[in-house]
Amino acid sequence: MNISDSSFSGRRVEQQVIGQATRDGDGVKLTRVLTQSHQRRLDPFLMLDNFGSDDPNDYGGGFPDHPHRGFETVTYMIAGRMRHRDSAGNEGLLQNGGVQWMTAGRGVVHSEMPEQEEGVMEGFQLWLNLPSSQKLCPPGYKDIQSESIPEYQTPEGIRVRVIAGQSQGVIGAVHRSAAEFPTNPLYLDIHFETEGQFRQELNVQQNAFLFVYRGAVHVVTDGLETHVGLHRMAILQNEGNGVEIKAMPGSKVLLIAGQALNEPIAQYGPFVMNTREELMKAVDDFRAGLFNS
Ligand code: MN
Repeated sequence: MNISDSSFSGRRVEQQVIGQATRDGDGVKLTRVLTQSHQRRLDPFLMLDNFGSDDPNDYGGGFPDHPHRGFETVTYMIAGRMRHRDSAGNEGLLQNGGVQWMTAGRGVVHSEMPEQEEGVMEGFQLWLNLPSSQKLCPPGYKDIQSESIPEYQTPEGIRVRVIAGQSQGVIGAVHRSAAEFPTNPLYLDIHFETEGQFRQELNVQQNAFLFVYRGAVHVVTDGLETHVGLHRMAILQNEGNGVEIKAMPGSKVLLIAGQALNEPIAQYGPFVMNTREELMKAVDDFRAGLFNS
């Protein structure tokens, strides 16, 4: 633990959120956990979807060709196989425990299609905003296989997968300089293989939330425990110097944090810019086929 017991002050849970059941793409059933109503509070995060089903009718249609501009999509596959293809010429198979980090920048058209006809498909897609200065950057794409995601185990037996940022000295699969990427995202997947308590350092400026996808957890503040149940998102207050999470064996939780951009957010479906004019330009450029180059 890199925060000594005496100086640690854990964040409280500000609000708990139940996601909204919806369908997207070609009828893929999902729960939208972080919705548009949280975009200001959880700046720089724009959306978090959780999909999970063993019924092919819920996921078989996938996400056929569609555009994005102005932000990044981070897809974390817990189980199943999904193939990605995009207009920048990238292709990759996203599977069990792997991550795809796509920077839409000035524009991509891509598809995300299941490569299985049965079995479980489960995962998350997070949308991370780009600062205005980078919204029209060239598109980028990174496929991170499960074995390439750095992880560590605490002495208590808690397994921490560091997808982005840094945790207890372990550098994540995606780690960029704060100067280059001011949102400085932290993305952890924490598996409580035994009962235990986990602490993560956070600065007060970072907006942070967690999402429980197995079991249940408690957020500990000054000896007080707040229960966060299965499939709940807990928004954490901006205070103290970290968060302390306690859980029973088998619990799994995502912990996500980032530095707010504090810029205007204008969204029209898969385009996220700063102004309405920029959104209209995005639609015009997409219709003119400018995303396909
Ligand atoms: Mn997409």
